[in-house]
Formats: sequence, structure tokens, C-alpha cells
Amino acid sequence: MGCLGSCAGNPKESTLRHPCFSPQGHGKAGRIHLPVAPSCNIGCGYCVRKFDCANESRPGVTSRVITPEQALWRVEQALASDIGPYLNVVGIAGPGEPLANENTFKTFRLIQEHYPHLISCVSSNGLLLADRLDDLVKLNVSHITVTMNTVDPAIGARIYRHVRYQGQRLTGEAGAALLIERQLDGIERAAAAGRTVKVNTVVIPGLNDDKVATLAREVKRRGARLLNLMPLINQGDFADWVPPTPALLQKLQQIASAILPQLTHCRQCRADAIGWI
Ligand code: SF4
Ligand code: SF4
Repeated sequence: MGCLGSCAGNPKESTLRHPCFSPQGHGKAGRIHLPVAPSCNIGCGYCVRKFDCANESRPGVTSRVITPEQALWRVEQALASDIGPYLNVVGIAGPGEPLANENTFKTFRLIQEHYPHLISCVSSNGLLLADRLDDLVKLNVSHITVTMNTVDPAIGARIYRHVRYQGQRLTGEAGAALLIERQLDGIERAAAAGRTVKVNTVVIPGLNDDKVATLAREVKRRGARLLNLMPLINQGDFADWVPPTPALLQKLQQIASAILPQLTHCRQCRADAIGWI
């Protein structure tokens, strides 16, 4: 039987039950991703989103985008199914940027009202994290993942096509610099607010692979507790790039592990994933 206790709102205790934040949670707990967030406020060069796809397994993909009410129903169904007793985590991870979609907040509100024992978790590009942190805290979202690929605007300019913030659309180093500044501020504030913060980094060989330690040091300084180095999926603007080999990824994880604990069991899940991790 899964925990029905009150630790869902306590990031430290609930982290042990979160399959993606704790080796203890891995393999023993279930999670459901609710694909309620189609829009995005930045353009990552490697992003190819699909809202009607049944057979690809990667972030940004969902069979369809659903409403907050449908999301609640989906959680009800999951709790009534075989995985129900093991379901610990409700996450919103796309298929776009969760914090750029009001339905993300409506969905977390419904989950809090109906199933406060579940851990609420969000995965974000970090651009709006500082701006929406109070809302996330009010809604008891205890686990926050920020995908952050570099702390260098020159590298960011080669990864991000554009950044849209407060009515402005920025490109090149200006856009990347703004994104990086908002990401680091968001991480720092979220950690200070008692959230458990994990950073996901897409490893792009030849672009950011030799800067992993610099990034790990900076996000640790801001309060991140875990680093998840994920291999590039070569698509979009990066279709011709060679993803990191497992050996390179392992080497980078080893280097970064001297700075921050590493998540090594990430499966790069779909935006509508459900099951054990
Ligand atoms: Fe795609 Fe996510 Fe990047 Fe937005 S933040 S462009 S949804 S990968
Ligand atoms: Fe966990 Fe990785 Fe899947 Fe996110 S994408 S739910 S971190 S395994």
C-alpha cells in the first residue's frame, strides 16, 4: 500500500518517495504525468513537440493535450488501477512549458483539493519560475525540475532560437542571457522556499559537454540538490548532431558527481507517461 500520510507537502520526507529524485524511490514508486500544458515561451533547437503521437517515447510527446478536469479524471482512473497503491507522484512536464500555461495551476489546484497525499511535481524551463513560485508554493508543489543547459549566453545562443518574456521576444545572446538569469534566480528562490530542486541538462557534445562542471557548481551554489545529465535526442536544429555515447555520459556524470548527486535512471519520459520508474 502506498503512503497515504501527510508527508506529501514536506519536500525532505516526500523526496524519498519520489522515483525521480531519490534512488530509494526508483523502481518502487509510480508517477503520472498530466499533459495539460501545450504552449511554450522559449524555443529550444532540439525541441520537436507532438500532441497526437502514440508511439514515440520522449519528452514533448503526448497522445493528446487534456483539460484540468480530464487530468483529474485520469488521476482517479490511475488510482483505481493496479498502479494505484504505488502512485506517489503527479507531475506536469509539458508537452510545452508548464509555467506558461494557466491550466497547470488549475490542475495542481484540483489535485490538491482531491488528492493532497500525492506529491506534486513540475518540470520547467525556469523562465517563469521566480515569477510563479508563490503560486507553486501555495499549491504545495514540492518538487521542481529546471532544464538548464548552460550558464554561458554564447552557448545558449546556439541552443535557444528565442525567449519570450513580458511581451518581449529576444534572440541570440540577449535571449539566452535573460533565460539563464531567470533560471538561476528561480532555482535560488525555489530552494530558499523549501522546494526540492533538480536540474536537468541536455548534454550536447561539442557545445556544452566540457562545461558540465561549471554548470553543476553554479546550480549547486543556488540550491539545486540533484543533477540529471540527459543525452541529446538529435532532432530539430540538432538533427545532424551526434548524441553523447553512454561512455561520455558516464564520464560526465562521474565528473559532476564530485559536485552534485547524479540522477542516472532518467528515462526521458513522455508528457503523458504513467507507470513505475
Ligand atoms: Fe520544447 Fe521544453 Fe524547450 Fe519549450 S522548454 S522549446 S517545450 S524543450
Ligand atoms: Fe523521472 Fe526522467 Fe521520467 Fe522525469 S523524465 S519522470 S525525471 S524518469
